[in-house]
Amino acid sequence: MKHPYLNKEHEIFRKSIRKFLEKEAYPYYEKWEEERMIPRSFWTKMGEQGFLCPDLDEEYGGSNVDWGYAVVINEELERVGSGLVGLGLHNDIVVPYINSFGTKEQKQRWLPRCTTGELITAIAMTEPGTGSDLANIKTTAILEGDHYLLNGQKTFITNGIQSDLIVVACKTDSKAEPKHKGVSLLVVERDTPGFSRGRKLNKVGLHCQDTAELIFEDCRVPKENLIGEEGKGFLYLMDKLQQERLVVAIAAQIAAEVMFTHTLEYVKSREAFGKPIGKFQNTQFKLAEMATDLEMGRAFLDQLIAEHIEGKDVVTKVSMAKWKLTENARKMATDCMQLHGGYGYMEEYEIARRFRDIQVASIYAGTNEIMKTIIAKNLGL
Ligand SMILES: Cc1cc2nc3c(=O)[nH]c(=O)nc-3n(C[C@H](O)[C@H](O)[C@H](O)COP(=O)(O)OP(=O)(O)OC[C@H]3O[C@@H](n4cnc5c(N)ncnc54)[C@H](O)[C@@H]3O)c2cc1C
Repeated sequence: MKHPYLNKEHEIFRKSIRKFLEKEAYPYYEKWEEERMIPRSFWTKMGEQGFLCPDLDEEYGGSNVDWGYAVVINEELERVGSGLVGLGLHNDIVVPYINSFGTKEQKQRWLPRCTTGELITAIAMTEPGTGSDLANIKTTAILEGDHYLLNGQKTFITNGIQSDLIVVACKTDSKAEPKHKGVSLLVVERDTPGFSRGRKLNKVGLHCQDTAELIFEDCRVPKENLIGEEGKGFLYLMDKLQQERLVVAIAAQIAAEVMFTHTLEYVKSREAFGKPIGKFQNTQFKLAEMATDLEMGRAFLDQLIAEHIEGKDVVTKVSMAKWKLTENARKMATDCMQLHGGYGYMEEYEIARRFRDIQVASIYAGTNEIMKTIIAKNLGL
């Protein structure tokens, strides 16, 4: 399918990352799933090839390319497996906070090593008691001399175990009204005193993706590690969460396309009652519905990506894409598994893993219910 925002160079780039992943990711993916971890060596290999943060300026190790390249990277990573989501999170979600709101000194200090894979990043918003209600986080950062004293706990953090730099959402003013005006972003580095990691969480899916708890106990964060201005963290988050949700929507569309392709192949070859199961009207209708959802999803997504690249305000449309495309993919996972019969429930068939992995897409990056509250608010309700 042709994307309006991609040209010949992007397609050449797609070929090169696909070739790279065929050598460095596809053969090892099952092993990574079993080991519940992607090795750091994969990150540095991605970095060596220029597949980490290529949109950054050349002075920070990037290639200064447009975001179409990020779309290609996210799509190709998702084709391997949803467990590679942490790389997209690093490229398009965490590093952009530093790049957009960081000082020149912060950028020089961190960004070049983010492009080589030497530094793996994470974003820590969610807490055991607070997820959707982000303005209500309890982690505090109190300025004492030239350090912030950070106290609190975060959970469900993608790249939690491996991360070297964590952008932590915290309250620098717990009494601020409205509450979101007290939120700031601090970068916590790997060896900061008072920072420790809790459990590596055991998840339903995304097995190779490390997701963990983080603990801050009188953690001494240099005040130079504040991103932007105190009290503006919530605004920064609202700004960058759009791209995060778009990345989730892109991944969901690709996951759905992969599930569809596998299922179409399967129903042509599996026979029952003397004919391929694809000859039953129920199978045909299911596949026809899926193909329609995929075409419509792709058309909406492509238009949205193009608008995002043009710098338009896409908040409402991103919220729509995030809930609708993840919901489509979840429904498709159920239907595709059903069409595989018993084999769909076996780990040898990719649909089993895809079925597990897609469930979380309606939960993270803001739940689908929260997406609908945003759409409703923008409808004036
Ligand atoms: C695998 C995984 C990776 C993640 N990675 C990260 C990460 O890297 N960084 C990070 O900070 N977080 C991360 N998260 C956390 C994720 O963003 C939160 O789980 C999510 O925002 C929901 O928060 P919660 O789990 O506290 O659910 P809650 O907020 O407690 O919500 C529970 C239910 O109530 C519903 N609900 C809540 N408020 C409303 C409302 N106003 N109207 C209607 N319904 C509502 C929700 O939609 C949901 O169905 C990750 C989560 C998972 C599972």
